Amino acid sequence: MNRQQEFVLRTIEERDVRFVRLWFTDVVGTLKSVALAPAEVEGAFEEGLGFDGSSIEGLARVFESDMLAQPDPSTFQILPWRGDSEQTSRMFCDILTPDGQPSAADPRNVLKRQLAKAADMGFTCYTHPEIEFYLLKSDELGPDGEPIPVDRAGYFDHVPGGVAQDFRRTAVSMLEAVGISVEFSHHEAGPGQNEIDLRYADALQTADNIMTFRTVVKEVALTTNCYATFMPKPFSDHPGSGMHTHLSLFEGDTNAFFEAGAEYQLSRTARQFIAGILRHAPEFTAVTNQFVNSYKRLWGGGEAPSYVSWGHNNRSALVRVPLYKPGKGQSARIEYRGIDSAANPYLSYAVLLGAGLKGIEEGYELPAGAEDDIESLSAAERRAMGLDPLPASLHDAARAMEESELVADILGEQVFENFLRNKRAEWNEYRQHVTQFELKKNLGIL
Ligand code: GLN
Ligand code: MG
Ligand code: MG
Ligand code: MG
Repeated sequence: MNRQQEFVLRTIEERDVRFVRLWFTDVVGTLKSVALAPAEVEGAFEEGLGFDGSSIEGLARVFESDMLAQPDPSTFQILPWRGDSEQTSRMFCDILTPDGQPSAADPRNVLKRQLAKAADMGFTCYTHPEIEFYLLKSDELGPDGEPIPVDRAGYFDHVPGGVAQDFRRTAVSMLEAVGISVEFSHHEAGPGQNEIDLRYADALQTADNIMTFRTVVKEVALTTNCYATFMPKPFSDHPGSGMHTHLSLFEGDTNAFFEAGAEYQLSRTARQFIAGILRHAPEFTAVTNQFVNSYKRLWGGGEAPSYVSWGHNNRSALVRVPLYKPGKGQSARIEYRGIDSAANPYLSYAVLLGAGLKGIEEGYELPAGAEDDIESLSAAERRAMGLDPLPASLHDAARAMEESELVADILGEQVFENFLRNKRAEWNEYRQHVTQFELKKNLGIL
């Protein structure tokens, strides 16, 4: 038993915790939870808790299904929305094989492997996400077949006494109570659309925080009589929900992306990192944008990127280099704007980091940045500038991923195959489906 584990056991006793939830994530980013009696926690620390891995998407095959969930004591947290008496707590778990080895199929382990690689190269990776989502009146559709948003407000609108404001106030204090610092929160451009930006943390902690965030937001929505969705594009006519992620690499206490006097103060490391992300973006988009619906956002306007490009403070680019104040070199970072709010954060951060590190290892050259609004250029202008499109559909994205040695290497064979199998099945289901669009377009005419 180490000191952190002892601390957890002591806290459980002192705070009268009745339930300890063990959390982990499947290959498509669904949170899994099993509640443990306090007396069982010590055993779970020592040996892990056995469960049937074959019932979890992408984890194990039926003939080798026994898996172990081992709680990570550094993630212990009391869950405040469960009330003061009979406290409930949670810990994230690492998934182990029966012989106690980290499971290659565990998304958290996939990210840990990439962070270990970064550490070998001398880097720590920090991330912070800007998470967008819609608040709806319920999960039921309106008479026109569309979801019903809680308000008609827009970007940065202050709606006095509005549901969204109540919601954000409660959600932000709940997030702070589970140890997640919030930097900003505001109404986004779509009706009922909101954004909450988390403070930067190391990439593993951020990914855990995103999983917690989604649960907190869903729980708080229910208590404010609404329904929160992280679906990438719930409305045809309103912007989708992105999860722009800011990334930086540090060498010790020094921001490795910053170089005073360089163009945009971007170091060589930063330029190579961006080049790695750009070169491999089409191959890993199936991971950062994993649903059929994700591609309706990427190709649906509303400030979501459709082409592989980077730009200094350019909000139509896939990678944006944000402006920062003089003397604030430590906050140098890049923003990846492709990823959406329904992505598996562990796998997504693993591919973003892995692609960036590849750029550094191989010394990729950064192509010229885009200064214009890329969406307003003509197809010929974009071709002349060498701006390639992102995949147009889940099908195209899965095809590009299948060919990618880099993504196979980052995810490991098991996750790579399981993920692709899941995505091909989703595509096949979708393509057999006759949509409202087709009915409206064709019925009565043809
Ligand atoms: N909602 C947009 C997206 O999908 C982002 C809008 C913004 O934050 N400027 O990426
Ligand atoms: Mg923002
Ligand atoms: Mg936003
Ligand atoms: Mg942003």
